[in-house]
Amino acid sequence: MSQPDLPGAPEAQPAARAAEPPPPVDPALDALERALALQQEGQHSHVIEAAVPHLEEGGPAEGADPSFIRAVLWTVVGISRHALGDIEGAQGALEAATAYARDRKQFGQRIGDFQMIQAMLADMDAQTEAARQLLYAACEVIEAGAPDAARWAAMCKLVAGDTAMRVTTDAVQVFGGYGYVDEFPVERMMRDAKITQLYEGTQQIQRLVIARALLGRSGN
Ligand SMILES: Cc1cc2nc3c(=O)[nH]c(=O)nc-3n(C[C@H](O)[C@H](O)[C@H](O)COP(=O)(O)OP(=O)(O)OC[C@H]3O[C@@H](n4cnc5c(N)ncnc54)[C@H](O)[C@@H]3O)c2cc1C
Repeated sequence: MSQPDLPGAPEAQPAARAAEPPPPVDPALDALERALALQQEGQHSHVIEAAVPHLEEGGPAEGADPSFIRAVLWTVVGISRHALGDIEGAQGALEAATAYARDRKQFGQRIGDFQMIQAMLADMDAQTEAARQLLYAACEVIEAGAPDAARWAAMCKLVAGDTAMRVTTDAVQVFGGYGYVDEFPVERMMRDAKITQLYEGTQQIQRLVIARALLGRSGN
């Protein structure tokens, strides 16, 4: 029996629509999701290994999914971005140390007036900029789908992680004893820099990837 048309009654629902086909899968997004799922399962080393056949063959190996490989490489580059970042990475440490060197006075002058502090700040700046330029170059190479993209991702992560460790450690040095205590931000930056040398493939693994690309062989 049909419902009478009462005021405020819900409108009659249209007949259920025929099942629609699922939306097409975006290969790039699908690959990224698979790479991230591997990470979440604690399979970082498998994620990095997935990129290796790409360079061993001088191009995508037979059966290798180029979208997947590219997504893997982007996750490695993402760590480099974190390592050099202006909030907790090398750039952030440089800015914090520079500001401190302007304010802190010892022996009647700003510590930024001491040449040894100036030299440290100059090295921190130059090293951070150099690593950043490599990061930009690696992004372009990976985006272009170059056959040696894995080598670039590995070089980028190796240099960015080591730069972050060096620069944040120097930032602690500029702060002196205050750098070591948690009222100031740089001890945290130094600890955070260390993880960029470990996860998403340790620095040793990045060196293996680069060396294999150079020597053109698989295995150790
Ligand atoms: C804070 C934090 C977050 C993490 N998040 C994640 C995550 O989200 N997903 C995930 O999958 N993992 C994650 N990890 C794990 C991380 O990826 C691993 O710790 C890292 O891959 C190193 O593996 P391992 O600790 O087993 O060290 P090992 O593999 O035991 O390595 C120990 C040492 O031996 C060296 N080594 C190992 N093999 C070789 C080799 N063939 N040649 C030369 N040297 C070698 C390593 O470089 C390292 O110096 C996280 C770790 C930490 C600390």
